Amino acid sequence: MSSERKLNIICWSGGKDSTATIVLAHELGIPIDLIVISLLWFDKKRRIYAEYPEVIEWIFSYAIPLFESWGYKVKVIESDKDYMHWFYHTIERTEHEDRKSKLSGWLIGGMCAMNREKINPIKRYLKSLGRNYQEYIGIAADEPKRLERVHRKGQISLLEQKGIIEEQTYDILRPYSLISPTYKFSKRGGCWFCPNQKVKEFAYLKTNHPELWAELVTFDSVPNKVSEGFKYGKTFKEISDKVDAYIANPPPVQLSLFDFIYEEM
Ligand code: SF4
Repeated sequence: MSSERKLNIICWSGGKDSTATIVLAHELGIPIDLIVISLLWFDKKRRIYAEYPEVIEWIFSYAIPLFESWGYKVKVIESDKDYMHWFYHTIERTEHEDRKSKLSGWLIGGMCAMNREKINPIKRYLKSLGRNYQEYIGIAADEPKRLERVHRKGQISLLEQKGIIEEQTYDILRPYSLISPTYKFSKRGGCWFCPNQKVKEFAYLKTNHPELWAELVTFDSVPNKVSEGFKYGKTFKEISDKVDAYIANPPPVQLSLFDFIYEEM
């Protein structure tokens, strides 16, 4: 066993809680050896990330340079396989005869293949460091269930240590302009094609990134998918109709079409 001290590593998602953890570490003078972020691809060949383009721009052009100016090293890890791979993957090994030789197709909410693509490369990378490390995780003080997991794994939450709840993370980030563009149109970060998104988030996608929406339209036209269920059993056409209805007639309570940071639908 090496006598070197443990590396302090922050696992950064780009979301408010892990970003606030980096700010806290910086303000508290905690020596952070490495910030690690794992980014997914929609299509690696065409260099289309899974995160919304404005989030990618913010990560690379603003957040990473700022962290580096604080003396923190940032390691960007990318998924091996992209969504194109998983969408066009032909199912061979299955107990269900009717699924054999069909395309995996749409991601399944709650069993998302891309999740593994995010987590496994990080695990591999941390293992490859060949050093003991202490992970700092962005879980707020008002998330008891998730904190139980943090404690079990021997990770540290600076937000918990400082008694900071989720809503307070915005106050930590605001002075550094470190609130991700995600929060302009969603309460949670993630992939622009994620089936867990709400109709209003897909409406944002279609309105602001028609070229990405068109990728989903293309997927929808691909035959031989194992299921036409795009979002929890609903077809892409069913969701697309709801998206169009939302765009044509946004709820009147909103101040603007996409002013729904705190509003559920
Ligand atoms: S955000 Fe959605 S699509 Fe992306 S990895 Fe998570 S569950 Fe899968």
